[in-house]
Amino acid sequence: MKKTVPKAVVFDLGKVLLDFDFGIFARRCAPYSRMESTAFLEVVNQSPLLHRYESGLMTDQQFYESVVALTGFTGTMETFAEWFGAIFTPIAEMVELHQLLVARGIPTFVFSNTNGLAIRSVRKDFPFYRTFTGEILSYEIQSMKPAPPIYEALEALTGLRGEELLYLDDRSENVEAGGQRGWTAWIHSDPTVTVPRVLSLWDSV
Ligand SMILES: [Mg+2]
Repeated sequence: MKKTVPKAVVFDLGKVLLDFDFGIFARRCAPYSRMESTAFLEVVNQSPLLHRYESGLMTDQQFYESVVALTGFTGTMETFAEWFGAIFTPIAEMVELHQLLVARGIPTFVFSNTNGLAIRSVRKDFPFYRTFTGEILSYEIQSMKPAPPIYEALEALTGLRGEELLYLDDRSENVEAGGQRGWTAWIHSDPTVTVPRVLSLWDSV
């Protein structure tokens, strides 16, 4: 059976390499605001405000000030930044997969809808993050998956396209947009499925 061996592996971050829970952040902040944690959560989790922030349309400071205005949060920007970044836990099997690829000399790229506060924390807290070949981050590109410009940016950075790219993401709309460009794009939900499936591509090489 013919197998196309990818020249690079493109990883979504959230729910692929790192689990995250905005609930942790909301429960920490709510007592210092005029909101219950569930209402606080709605301000930040998958909200229009977060979408604007992750689209690169506001600075960290503007995001903080918007949350303060909407919730009455009384903490400083420093506290806010620290708590906002403390919502991630590594998905061990997937981090290990990434390390295996790096050890084999296979280029790997981060491809994430994210923001500056989150990425600075992730870079500081998780050494594996610093072993990627490169990164394409929505807030820097001012485009979010599944819109085409961020995919074009990844192709431009890597110099690769189509089946040369293997792409893993937990969101079907993002995977579909990659597939439409000819990328080998796989939905990720379970490491026990994804890890052997990825490694099998290099089995006979
Ligand atoms: Mg994700």
